[in-house]
Amino acid sequence: MNQQLRIITRDQHTVSRKAISPNALRVLYRLHEAGHSAFLVGGAVRDLIAGIQPKDFDVATDATPEQVRALFRNCRLIGRRFRLAHVVFGREIIEVATFRASSDDGSGDREVHDDGRVLRDNVYGSIEEDAVRRDFTANALYYNIADFSIHDYIGGFDDVIGRRMRMIGDAETRYREDPVRMLRAVRLSSKLGFTIADDTAAPIASLASLLLQAAPARLFDECLKLFLSGHAVASFEGLERHGLLAVLFPETAKALASNRSGALRRMVIAGLAGTDARVAADEPVSPAFLFAVLLWPAYCRSLAQLEGQGMHAAEAQRRAADRVTLHLTQVVALPRRFSLPMQEIWLLQPRFAQRKRTGRFIAHPRFRAAFDFLKLRERASPNHAGDVAYWTDLYSGMPHPPESQDDDEGGEEQPRSPRRRRRRS
Ligand code: ATP
Ligand code: MG
Repeated sequence: MNQQLRIITRDQHTVSRKAISPNALRVLYRLHEAGHSAFLVGGAVRDLIAGIQPKDFDVATDATPEQVRALFRNCRLIGRRFRLAHVVFGREIIEVATFRASSDDGSGDREVHDDGRVLRDNVYGSIEEDAVRRDFTANALYYNIADFSIHDYIGGFDDVIGRRMRMIGDAETRYREDPVRMLRAVRLSSKLGFTIADDTAAPIASLASLLLQAAPARLFDECLKLFLSGHAVASFEGLERHGLLAVLFPETAKALASNRSGALRRMVIAGLAGTDARVAADEPVSPAFLFAVLLWPAYCRSLAQLEGQGMHAAEAQRRAADRVTLHLTQVVALPRRFSLPMQEIWLLQPRFAQRKRTGRFIAHPRFRAAFDFLKLRERASPNHAGDVAYWTDLYSGMPHPPESQDDDEGGEEQPRSPRRRRRRS
């Protein structure tokens, strides 16, 4: 691995302080004035070079967490074995990490397991060591507040300019250490419109099943980032292309493969495109609705099997919903506050064909989400056009709250920005 430091001076790059959060600049300057090295690092530097406004700003320094705390009143230390400093400015948190050696999956304390997975990581190190333990070259760039240059130890600058995700070191080894990196490769390339370098992409298909070793809670976090950050369609297609969909959502993948008309796939893509449009318009998006879309093919498949065994429709619907939820939550830890409304969205679908006790149905807390869902189904197959027209007429004649994917969930249930979720503490 080439670990020659390349310094890209201020006149050779486009990263401007105007695009950096004032709070991050404050932290960088304070560290620098106190005699420490201070760099903006990770996704923020990558995004700034690529011309994207970063969602959060991380700082790396040679100061220890205790030294950082001594400099900032608004600072708390988190993490047990590996300590990180959070400098808090109202709702914005600047994460300050001391350079560290060895590998990291962003989820906290690590130590190495027999099969190569890294399970503990708590050694301070040099900036070079800090660079190589990161995942992709594009994520290993350091913006130096001392002279506004970018320090590049592994060729990340050329990769960002060439719009490539390239794994640092041997890709297969790094995926074995932390299988979630396979999802990160797909997610970041979808978000940034980057390609995945050939030798970074090649091992994914055969290692995909290692994802099942990752903590279900981490996979849930990663799913929110994949599908609720405005690039859900690209993420979905990337997961399909690299064989990861069949591991994350196996029953959905099987149902899509056997659905010859393509209606199920059109429905899923329409749902994800709708989610992307809502994110672009700054409208709220709900994990319950998202997972209802992603697992609808699995639900339909399970329902058809149970009905094929002669089960009564209502019973088969409940059983199918439970079965799909159970299988999903073994892999992805979807919390109950999302899985229950997800099931309700499915179980309310037959209600639209009934056209009775309409006022009561419209007043149902999940009516709006279920109706949005029916409209997606109609986009994929014409069967539901009559129902959509009927309920649109009824609904538009009534006073109702403003549109939302989940009217009743209120502020508390709106997902936090997935990017701000840190599982390191
Ligand atoms: P975004 O914030 O757009 O989701 P990001 O690259 O900033 O992308 P974070 O999860 O915020 O992702 O991680 C910050 C940095 O930590 C990354 O840029 C990378 O350098 C490092 N990192 C995160 N996860 C891993 C991992 N699984 N393995 C190695 N390094 C990682
Ligand atoms: Mg980030």
